[in-house]
Amino acid sequence: MSTSRHHTTHEVLNQAPPRVDVDEFALNTALREAVEVFAPGAGTDLFHEIGRHVGTEQYQHDAELANTLPPVQHAHDRWGNRVDEIEFHPSYHRIMEYSVSRGLHTSAWADPGPGANVERAAGFMLVSQIEAGHGCPLSMTHAVVPSLRLNPGLAAEWEPALLSTVYDPELRDPATKSGVLFGMAMTEKQGGSDVRANTTTATPMGDGLHMLRGHKWFCSAPQSDAFLVLAQAPEGLSCFLVPRVLPGGERNPFLVQRLKDKLGNKSNASSEVEFDGTLGWMVGEPGRGVRTIIEMVGRTRLDCVLGSTAGMRQGVAEAAWHARHRAAFGATLVDQPAMAAVLADLQLEAEAATWTATRLAAAYDDDESAAYRRLATAVAKYWTCKRGPHHAYESLECLGGNGYTEAFPLARRYREQPVLAVWEGSGNVIALDVLRAMAREPESVAAFDAELAAQTGHHELFDRHIERVRGLIGRAASDPAAAPAIARRLVEAMALGQQGAVLLAHAPAPVAEAFCLARLGDDRSAEYGALPDGVDVAALVARA
Ligand SMILES: Cc1cc2nc3c(=O)[nH]c(=O)nc-3n(C[C@H](O)[C@H](O)[C@H](O)COP(=O)(O)OP(=O)(O)OC[C@H]3O[C@@H](n4cnc5c(N)ncnc54)[C@H](O)[C@@H]3O)c2cc1C
Repeated sequence: MSTSRHHTTHEVLNQAPPRVDVDEFALNTALREAVEVFAPGAGTDLFHEIGRHVGTEQYQHDAELANTLPPVQHAHDRWGNRVDEIEFHPSYHRIMEYSVSRGLHTSAWADPGPGANVERAAGFMLVSQIEAGHGCPLSMTHAVVPSLRLNPGLAAEWEPALLSTVYDPELRDPATKSGVLFGMAMTEKQGGSDVRANTTTATPMGDGLHMLRGHKWFCSAPQSDAFLVLAQAPEGLSCFLVPRVLPGGERNPFLVQRLKDKLGNKSNASSEVEFDGTLGWMVGEPGRGVRTIIEMVGRTRLDCVLGSTAGMRQGVAEAAWHARHRAAFGATLVDQPAMAAVLADLQLEAEAATWTATRLAAAYDDDESAAYRRLATAVAKYWTCKRGPHHAYESLECLGGNGYTEAFPLARRYREQPVLAVWEGSGNVIALDVLRAMAREPESVAAFDAELAAQTGHHELFDRHIERVRGLIGRAASDPAAAPAIARRLVEAMALGQQGAVLLAHAPAPVAEAFCLARLGDDRSAEYGALPDGVDVAALVARA
């Protein structure tokens, strides 16, 4: 952009150049290494292509527009007919079109096999690093497949369009669509975590078809083609596929009351909806709605880990970029020890999240890892998403005042990160879910322990930490009634063990060593940048 030489009062100096036209995959050393470890057969051309695409000025501008010109609800058309449509800025459609065309919604199902979930995870993280909100419909569409397959008839009907890479956002007869998106609606006003409190009713009409009446207090991506919805059938809480448009083309009543005015996540429409004479087809067994939808929830939790990790990558990448181009008090910021320590610590957190997220995605490629992923997903969801907001805050502070303005992307990231901890099981609910899994599925504890035990003997601090984890697990098991009071302590300890194990097994030695010292040692700190002696700051900063 050329600037006018008239009326300039000063030269613009010492501002970092725009961080554009970069390959976000090439620059993300930890992600490249983790993909190599967990999807060794994956070609990297696609990731570089995605990395370059999201690194363009145009994509970054689209991400900004999609969030500053957020979706608008249209309850009626101009003649007063009820339509319940959501209008998005073209930038949002461009972003969605790109991600769907690269299979970042359902490629792991369309082309399954070793590495499939890792590859999808890597692509998902690359796009989410720049535009987070559109990850919500991508994620729900990915996650719905195993739940939907519990009703093979419905799966056969919907899967061709679900697995296609065509972005087809118009609401039409499902039979005429070349690509579809799915959402889910569980939360009601009187209870979100506790879905047993759902009051929406489902009256049997025969042949699995039910008529729904009631409401959902949160329903994201209401523009999607169909939803899995929980409602009370005569047999108890059950799961239903509710399409926006019925076979034949008639609209299914799906009354969008309003869009939520949210802290962040602006590009993603989140709505309140009502059902009145709304048709839904049962998925899974009657009265087993939670059991049916839990597969979907497990996978959206994985995507919360991926999304939060992507946010950390954005944070530290922007922070390091600024520090490399900005001088203060006579020296470039990155060369000043206090700043280098902050950047190294932010990178360490992003490394731990990246390696953990990729390892976790790999556990979805392999049925033998089912027990491990049951516990590991909840543990990683709790911890990575809890660490996200503070990481975003510290990253934006590296940009000084610029970081606090909407002209730079980290203000948006700061508002985005908390949602990943709130939805798909808020912190306490996840911590209690870990206790539940440990009590009901002891094989998940054994699998989790085995993953950690495999790395003992490499670092004294890690070995000591594992004993602490085992002690807390034993304490929770021996007194289940008292366990909720230590749930967060336990899950935090497990999460640090999980991160330490993957880093010791696969990350470069300076990263694993830094993690053990700074996250497991006695000299660990609550704030970023207060690293203990022995951490190789330069090695970490070089990877940021
Ligand atoms: C932007 C956004 C989009 C969303 N989109 C969807 C969607 O598409 N579909 C959908 O179904 N839902 C959606 N949700 C809802 C979300 O999943 C719920 O808000 C969340 O599960 C929490 O439920 P709740 O709001 O009813 O809070 P509550 O369940 O009332 O929880 C409140 C607090 O209490 C804690 N808590 C709950 N139980 C316990 C306990 N036993 N012990 C200790 N603490 C406890 C929770 O951790 C939480 O901190 C969305 C939410 C947001 C913010």
